[in-house]
Amino acid sequence: MLIIGILGIQGAYLKHKEILGSLSVKSVVVKYSHQLNDINGLIIPGGETTAFTKQMNYEITFENLQKFANVKPTFGTCAGIITQGEGINNKKILQLKVLNANIERNAYGSQIDSFIEDIDLIFNDSNKPFQAIFIRAPKITNIGNDIKVLATLKNNPVLIENKLHLGATFHPELTDDFRIHKYFIDKVKINI
Ligand code: GLN
Repeated sequence: MLIIGILGIQGAYLKHKEILGSLSVKSVVVKYSHQLNDINGLIIPGGETTAFTKQMNYEITFENLQKFANVKPTFGTCAGIITQGEGINNKKILQLKVLNANIERNAYGSQIDSFIEDIDLIFNDSNKPFQAIFIRAPKITNIGNDIKVLATLKNNPVLIENKLHLGATFHPELTDDFRIHKYFIDKVKINI
C-alpha cells in the first residue's frame, strides 16, 4: 500500500498531512529514522532549514535521510527545496544534494516581503493558474541539465523536478488547490 511520509521535525508539516488525507493517500509524520523504512516517498515541508539541521542529529539523522532520498522520491517545499538542493556554504544548513540546483535562501527579503503570485504549471491541463504563496522564500539560481522546470515566476524557476524529486520554492500546502500534491503522488507511484 502507498504510504507517504512527511518530515515532522519542524515547520509546516501538518497541512501536507491534511491534503494527503483529502486525496485518500495514507500518510505518516516522520520523526524517527526507522519510519523511513515504511514509506514510499517523503515530503520535506517548509520551515527553517537551520532548525531542520539541528534536529537531524537526534531521532532522525541526516545520513538516514540521505540514504532514503538517494533512492526514493521526495517533495520539498520552501525550506524543503533548500534541503534537497545544493550550493549553500553554511555549516548550519545540511543539504541532501538530490536536486541539481543551487538555492539562495531568503532571496526575496525577510518575512514582510512574503507575497502571493499566480503561476502557470506546465503539467496543467486546464488554463487555471496556481496561486503560489512565497514566505521568506528561496530562489533557484542555477540548475543542472537533468532538471525540468515545471513553473516559473518572472523567468525564475519556482517548481522543478528530476526523475525522483520535486521541489517548490513556495508553499502549495497553504492553498485548496492540490494539483502539485497529486503530481507528487503520481511520481511516487511510478517509482514504487
Ligand atoms: N527562509 C527559510 C529558510 O531558509 C525558509 C522559509 C520557509 O520554509 N517558508 O530555512
